[in-house]
Amino acid sequence: MRRPVVTAFVGLGANLGDAVQAVQSALVDLAQVPGIRALRASNLYRSAPVDATGPDFINAVAEVRTTLSAPNLLAALQNLELAAGRQRPYRNAPRTLDLDLLLYGQAQMDSPHLTLPHPRWLERAFVLCPLQELAPQLVRADMLAAVADQAVERMQLKAPSAP
Ligand code: ADP
Ligand code: MG
Repeated sequence: MRRPVVTAFVGLGANLGDAVQAVQSALVDLAQVPGIRALRASNLYRSAPVDATGPDFINAVAEVRTTLSAPNLLAALQNLELAAGRQRPYRNAPRTLDLDLLLYGQAQMDSPHLTLPHPRWLERAFVLCPLQELAPQLVRADMLAAVADQAVERMQLKAPSAP
């Protein structure tokens, strides 16, 4: 059966090793996942860790058009995290690559493995700022105002976009 194409948003973050490289190559790898038809990436952003330790984070958001179901898209994201060598020694540990499913169409769900929208997307400037680049209609001014105390720096770096 042919599945519908859904627009989803993925949050990317890294703060270990060459974090810029980790996010850029994750964007390239994500565009090549079977079932992902198209990908548009925001610029890269730099931010101080929130509820986490270690060096600054590099973040970005990608808009994907996909025929994958939400659980299958999350599984694909987790495979990319594993391939990047992510370990989870403790909650909020520094990580080589963190991929979060922020929004999947209009989906709202709360299962043990997947909550949509992502439970913390509204709390994080490093999600809202890059998301606003890609989907300004999803990010209202009051949402940005609520995270205005979090310093995020927009970098002059953008990953290659896939068609
Ligand atoms: P965080 O991304 O909050 O820093 P983790 O990446 O370690 O923390 O948490 C991943 C866990 O959260 C996974 O076990 C996954 O099943 C669960 N999870 C629930 N909803 C989502 C979502 N929308 N995107 C990514 N992971 C999710
Ligand atoms: Mg995560």
